Amino acid sequence: MSAQSSTATPRSTIAAETKMSSDNTPHPPVKHCSDKVNARYRHGRPDSELVPSRYALKVGAIDVMVVSDGVLSLPSAMLGHNVDPAVRSAWLEHMFLPTDALEWALNMVVVRSGGRTILVDVGIGMEFPDLPRAGKVAQRLKAAGIDLASVTDVVLTHMHMDHCGGLLADGVKERLRPDLRVHVAAAEAEFWESPDFSRVSMPPGFPDAPRRTGKNFLKEYHSRLQTFENEYEVTPGVVIQRTGGHTPGHSVVRLASGGDRLMFAGDAVFQVGFEHPDWYNGFEHDPEEAARVRVRLLRELAANRESLVATHLSFPSVCHVAVDGDVFRWVPGPWEY
Ligand SMILES: [Zn+2]
Repeated sequence: MSAQSSTATPRSTIAAETKMSSDNTPHPPVKHCSDKVNARYRHGRPDSELVPSRYALKVGAIDVMVVSDGVLSLPSAMLGHNVDPAVRSAWLEHMFLPTDALEWALNMVVVRSGGRTILVDVGIGMEFPDLPRAGKVAQRLKAAGIDLASVTDVVLTHMHMDHCGGLLADGVKERLRPDLRVHVAAAEAEFWESPDFSRVSMPPGFPDAPRRTGKNFLKEYHSRLQTFENEYEVTPGVVIQRTGGHTPGHSVVRLASGGDRLMFAGDAVFQVGFEHPDWYNGFEHDPEEAARVRVRLLRELAANRESLVATHLSFPSVCHVAVDGDVFRWVPGPWEY
């Protein structure tokens, strides 16, 4: 808007806006760059600045808490590496998202039911200086009122480092109960013995980090693993189901109680997946199968009106899925206060 046209506008708000745009210090568009953003946090946030991100809800009689492990600054291209960069950039612009680097939420879930406290995924841990804005699972659980020593079961949707690395953080293993079980699909544990990264499209140097973490995890937690083939009920109403796709043993967790249902979908669904379920995520080890899994789950969620929570949807990510023509739509849930 030019200064001239604004003088004819009686609305004071528009006049004020015009004054801003006509001064000599234009406001540049907000630039996001993972390196620059991360550099500011290179030494981590001081504890006093920890955002105690927790969100509690009920699924029938089951207590659920979504806990954030911070954010991961990753290249935006990871959201759709099989599409024309111009198309991808246009979508990101359309969604008010930066086109170079995105801050991915990193959600975990605590489920309490039947006398058990079940931690679904455990965040990324502290080993990754390039991702300094996440990795404080112990502090964040404590801030959410969850004592690590009270956790009876850990469920891993899969063994990428942002889902299992938290158990490798300093001082965590020592605080866990001696009888704690880590539930993971047999196919997942087997995959990480000798993982295949030939189909992924990760940032440079990245495959080494998840490869190392997967190996360490198997070494440190081998004796506590409780594997399942396709499905396992941790406690009544809390069922893990293997989907494959993202990784061979990728699994989702289904909660059901008193007619209420909620799915924690791990990495089967990303924000772009509602509108473009066929866009391949850079971390998918079998992208075609991951896209098929995504469509199947989204269809199911839309049909049965089940709530959805996923690892990398904006915190707290509780939502529903609707079908809108030939795409899906993300419908945020009301705040359960
Ligand atoms: Zn992930």
